[in-house]
Amino acid sequence: MKSPISQLAGAVQESPTLALNEKAALLRERGEAVIHLGSGEPKTKTPIDAILAAAGKLTSAEVKYTPTDGIPSLKKAVVRYTEENYGRAVGAENVMIASGAKAALYSLLLAILDPQDEVLIPAPYWVSYPEMVKLCYARPVIVTPEDGRFEPGLKEIKEAVSSSTKAIIVNSPNNPSGAVYSEQFIAGIVEFCGEKGIYLIMDDIYHKLIFDGKKSVSCYKYSRDNPDSSRLVAINGVSKLYAMTGFRIGWAVANARLIATMTNVQAQTTSCPSSLLQMAAVGALNGVQSYVESLKSTLENNRNVMIRELEAINDVRVIKPQGTFYCLPDFRAYSNDSVALSRRLLEQALVVTVPGREFGMEGHLRLSYCQSMKETIEGVQRIRWALDPNSPKEIYIGDRKCVRDWK
Ligand code: PMP
Ligand code: GLU
Repeated sequence: MKSPISQLAGAVQESPTLALNEKAALLRERGEAVIHLGSGEPKTKTPIDAILAAAGKLTSAEVKYTPTDGIPSLKKAVVRYTEENYGRAVGAENVMIASGAKAALYSLLLAILDPQDEVLIPAPYWVSYPEMVKLCYARPVIVTPEDGRFEPGLKEIKEAVSSSTKAIIVNSPNNPSGAVYSEQFIAGIVEFCGEKGIYLIMDDIYHKLIFDGKKSVSCYKYSRDNPDSSRLVAINGVSKLYAMTGFRIGWAVANARLIATMTNVQAQTTSCPSSLLQMAAVGALNGVQSYVESLKSTLENNRNVMIRELEAINDVRVIKPQGTFYCLPDFRAYSNDSVALSRRLLEQALVVTVPGREFGMEGHLRLSYCQSMKETIEGVQRIRWALDPNSPKEIYIGDRKCVRDWK
């Protein structure tokens, strides 16, 4: 008898970030005073402009299929967004709307990869990239920077390129490290990929969540490609910028031929993103933009507090993140096994963290600072309690007696 599950799907890992969300929610339902420092979504409420736009659509009672590549008003909003934020004039034929940046990325990979093609992924990387590449029968090639650095090295990337290399995925500001790659790196990688004819996929989902008054560098600034055949692709969406993760709207900007191919893939797999949720995205993109500034300053304050608390833990090395809502401290002084460390912190201190191994960075933990400041402080203080040999052996968290057994 043939195997019930395909080899391909059987080899795909569960998404650890999504699995931890569910685990944290279950523990909370059971009444445990869990603090979720593993989350990947800001807690801020949806912008009112998004709600009103979606509500208007809903009350029209005309919620139907839309064009596969998205409704014209949303494509228009993305065209304007690209001009304003990237300094790049594009047309509607260069934009495809998808059900989240994740879906945009997956349609893109399906559109460009043949079996056995290689995709370079600098570590630390977002958990889904290698699995999505494998789902296309292609091969993820992880490029790890020199010890202790979060910015990929151009030299290491160039060395990893082979005749099978089809694409590179660059994510800055970076999930999980919060690093914002230097302009020099962006310029170098854009030029290098342009010369070699390698697809450069810029996952820019956090590109406005940059702190300390800095701004992201537009990948187009250094591109000398012909826009009609350029292999530079920008991925973005409303999930992080407007805290609209549950709305599932993202997009890709690329040359028209590639967008048409991706649209065929999307037509045969999802038909189109939800018409209601596309309207919500129009509302967010065309609405009051002070929302983004205020989200950013909340996250920046939380970042400062988290770093201050982490610096109080002996021997934990932390590089201050310049963007996103994550950081990736180095806990190797305590354990080289981030999965075991994360599990112990959950069991002993009721704190959810994401093991660095999932992001290609063993010995580290990803900690988010998108929850309330109170939770951020208490979460890190619990980690400190669990690791510090001089802290009390037992404490109460809510009704639960927690016992520290770190050696
Ligand atoms: N890229 C990165 C780096 C992310 O962290 C996420 C978060 N899920 C995504 C893409 C996908 O975002 P979306 O919610 O739009 O699918
Ligand atoms: N991107 C977020 C994270 O890394 C959300 C979860 C997911 O889509 O993987 O936690």
